[in-house]
Amino acid sequence: MARRVLTGGIAQESHSFNPIVTLRERFTIVEGPAAVELNRGANSTFGGVIDAACEGDVDLVVPTLFRAQSGGPVQDRVFEEVSEIMVDAAKRGDFDAVVLPLHGGMLTESLEDPEGVLVERLRAIVGRAVPITAAFDLHAHVKESTLEPLDFLAGYLTNPHEDQSATAKRAFQAAMGILDGTFTPVLAATFLPMLTLGNDTTLSGPLVDIHAYAREAVRQSRVYDVSIFNCQQFLDVDGMGQTVLAYGNGEIDEAQKVANEIMRMIWNHRDDLVEKYPNLDDELRKVRESESSIIIGDQGDRVAAGGPGDSTYVLNHLLANCFEVETYIPICDPDAVEICSRAGAGNRIALNFGGKYSTVSPSVVVEGKVSGVGENAPVVYDGPSDGGTKTYIAKYAVFEIGSIKVLLTNQPYAYIDPDYFRAVGLDPEHAKIIVTRSGYHFQLNFAKIGRVVTADTPGMTSYDIDQFAWRHARPFYPLDRIEFEPRQYVRLRR
Ligand SMILES: [Zn+2]
Repeated sequence: MARRVLTGGIAQESHSFNPIVTLRERFTIVEGPAAVELNRGANSTFGGVIDAACEGDVDLVVPTLFRAQSGGPVQDRVFEEVSEIMVDAAKRGDFDAVVLPLHGGMLTESLEDPEGVLVERLRAIVGRAVPITAAFDLHAHVKESTLEPLDFLAGYLTNPHEDQSATAKRAFQAAMGILDGTFTPVLAATFLPMLTLGNDTTLSGPLVDIHAYAREAVRQSRVYDVSIFNCQQFLDVDGMGQTVLAYGNGEIDEAQKVANEIMRMIWNHRDDLVEKYPNLDDELRKVRESESSIIIGDQGDRVAAGGPGDSTYVLNHLLANCFEVETYIPICDPDAVEICSRAGAGNRIALNFGGKYSTVSPSVVVEGKVSGVGENAPVVYDGPSDGGTKTYIAKYAVFEIGSIKVLLTNQPYAYIDPDYFRAVGLDPEHAKIIVTRSGYHFQLNFAKIGRVVTADTPGMTSYDIDQFAWRHARPFYPLDRIEFEPRQYVRLRR
């Protein structure tokens, strides 16, 4: 009989200082065989679980999967709903292993390690006999409580992320290896209270060599698998920082050496991992001087990092400098969407929008034309990052101010993919300037459209981390002077 794997859960990345609680309506929810069909082949962690199951002739049980873009902490009630569904499914016991496509950087209103709590609850039901593995984002916050109930955890090895599916396959294969008796996971983990702030792509800079070292350790079979988590920068939780995992196959010594060496490399590069982004004015000047189009990541209000998505900073800058080139700029403002919807497409109105949560630049008050309104506009990611992912824009209006087309939405989106614009009738190939609410991942998916650059703008997701009233995470580098004393965690048994 074919093996069966229980999968699903809840995935979101949280920002401690975003006051907007993430409610159920922000989640895309899938379940059952339809979820499997919908996500087959997608370059997401769930897509990876599905493809690995298909290749291994394994049947999947998907009680539910809630996924949302980043934002404020998730409402407790939403987490409890998912937890209850997964726990009920676990009680049925009709599966051989559990493989969870989660994020690892989620918070709820009251939990600072909800992933650990979910896995612990599942573990309490299935016992030690059933392997539980998970795939997390590279920006996850991983600590002892996360690792304790898990047999194996894999994190993305790329930023911008392009190995979501591959990461889930690592988690899936680990579970199968445990069942087959070919993999006996032993874990050496190290933790360091430190943030990387900007120069932390895996395409260039210090992380290139660090990941090369990790890959070589796996290739030489010194260790079974390595994950390097560069924690999301806006998580005010105890024990927050960098996490390195090295799994051995029954042998811990090399795993410990590799984990410690990688953390030492991260620490040695601590100052190189901090970087300033290019100046917005300089980038816009280049637009005036050249024919090519530019796609700008608004560093200060990245929904991809949990920002509210309503910053008017770039728009006010364009208006003040009389830019008259075709521009698409997204702003989240549910009230403005309602007003535009009532006015109807084709009508001119005066509108006050944006800047309600992002207070670095005032709301825009201007007359313009509502050129489109709609809801549930389907989006399919071109990729490569999250390619094939299917989602939708809930409610939107396109508001034109001369050549500037403001995409107003009732929910915040990161716009990591050009298809968000096509979904509302805006052709990315026609724009000279496109603004996104992402700092890394959009760069992969927009590279074919034009020049991609993340500009230094102020706001809740800028790396000016001094702006926050940290209560739990400190002391950490670079806000505080710390010594190199990484915490260690070793697990020798399953
Ligand atoms: Zn990430």
